[in-house]
Amino acid sequence: MKMGTKICPVCGNEFKGSGNICKDGYYCNECEKKVRLVFVEDEEDYLPAAKIRARLNKYASAIAAYDSVKKPETCPICGKPLPKFMHMRLLDAYICMDCAEKAAGMMHTGYDAVGCMCISEIRPLFEQAAVRGGRVDASGVFYNADSLRIVYPLIRTLLEVPGEDGYEVAYFDPLDSLSDEDLQAAPALAERRRAELEAKYGTHKAIFEVDKITKLYNESKGRRYYRSEYRIGGRVLMGNVILEV
Ligand SMILES: [Zn+2]
Ligand SMILES: [Zn+2]
Repeated sequence: MKMGTKICPVCGNEFKGSGNICKDGYYCNECEKKVRLVFVEDEEDYLPAAKIRARLNKYASAIAAYDSVKKPETCPICGKPLPKFMHMRLLDAYICMDCAEKAAGMMHTGYDAVGCMCISEIRPLFEQAAVRGGRVDASGVFYNADSLRIVYPLIRTLLEVPGEDGYEVAYFDPLDSLSDEDLQAAPALAERRRAELEAKYGTHKAIFEVDKITKLYNESKGRRYYRSEYRIGGRVLMGNVILEV
């Protein structure tokens, strides 16, 4: 090894210069160019090189093709015209800000994190009845999701990301997997359930069953800073509860 050179813990190549910090020391500028595409600002500073390498490998083909992606006329998700400036660049596509905002909301993350993903990771979110506000049956009748949630609640869960130290938020909408027969029976079922709950609890605008209260915190450098805000978990038994996002 020549004087003044280091070995990059991410790619294993020799490099000169000061490099960029990660948990295992300094990595090379060639890797940094790729890191900027798939990590949000400063996210990688405290990650081990193996984690950084795993994500660079996961997105290798999208990173290689990054500069050749052309901006289309319309948003590939909603089909609306893509504004000249107000749009969101993903790793391998461009989408409109409306769709970017919905995606960020569904994943409980920021725009910048959405920009580090491929469209194949985002599109499935938009195929769910939850996002469309309901589902259409084979004969073209639309069933409003809100009125059916009393019997088919939306399920939010966390899925482990293989090879990474994290979880991603996933939604399972039972409306997506209902047969047409069950979908057509759902409004009557919901009506019956509503009547049962009203008989039991009386008439209220909404009834919310609480089963978990969590104090929220920000995490920085491995320490938790608790806020004076709480997350309340449970389910809506009846009516509409508007959630702040
Ligand atoms: Zn490198
Ligand atoms: Zn769109």
